[in-house]
Amino acid sequence: MAQDQDLQRRLLRRQLLWQGLVGAGALAAGPAVLRSVAPPAPRGGVDLGDPRLIAAVPPPPIVSRAQWGANEGLRRGRPDFAPINRVIVHHTVTAVDEPDPAARVRAIYAFHVRGNGWDDIGYNFVVDQAGRVYEGRAGGSGPTGEDAAGRGVVGAHAGGHNTGSVGVAILGTFSDDRTTPSDAALEAVAAVGAWKLGTRGIDPLAPGALIGHRDVVATGCPGNGCQRRLAEVRERSRGRIAAAGSPDDGGGLVEELLETVGDLLG
Ligand SMILES: [Zn+2]
Repeated sequence: MAQDQDLQRRLLRRQLLWQGLVGAGALAAGPAVLRSVAPPAPRGGVDLGDPRLIAAVPPPPIVSRAQWGANEGLRRGRPDFAPINRVIVHHTVTAVDEPDPAARVRAIYAFHVRGNGWDDIGYNFVVDQAGRVYEGRAGGSGPTGEDAAGRGVVGAHAGGHNTGSVGVAILGTFSDDRTTPSDAALEAVAAVGAWKLGTRGIDPLAPGALIGHRDVVATGCPGNGCQRRLAEVRERSRGRIAAAGSPDDGGGLVEELLETVGDLLG
């Protein structure tokens, strides 16, 4: 538990640093500035990976709940939010060649609420074979699943590991070694990972940062065919963060200001 608290504290600190940077105009100044004030690597406890890997990674295009036709009268309760600390990948155990992905997302939503008795769809995001990203569990004001403080809505996708995790489900069944998600689908998962992790200074290659459901719960999910490609997804995700933080001359005055912000939070 002490380790959990330590992680929460570090995530909060990075979140505060990030908000300070956004408030000070660092986004306009460039990613190089962000790197110059990135917090030092944590020692012991939870490894958040390369501390220089913090960058303003924009979200990928998201098919909103309104766009996939979510019946908002179905969900209930009030969403909970928590600082985001990892991404957990699933498969939906439905057809790989889905003729109508939006209809499948609606069906999963209905099953999670009516069948499982949950408040809303369990996943935070769903990805189809064409690489489209669908908004999952409702939270916040847009399709990002985040509240105003940048905390993520808590889903229901990995028992005991929902708080702080972003559950991303790929439409399909990948239990078979030879059946893997499409490149487009894997790229979409990498994009969600880069956005959620990179913006919080979490390296996708850090232990436990971007994992399969089976890595935390005794389950076959997300299937052998998907699980064996997650190393590649982590690399792609990391590459997207590094690209977003590519060298740029931030400008002296802003940089000084941001170093002060970093010191204040340090
Ligand atoms: Zn799963």
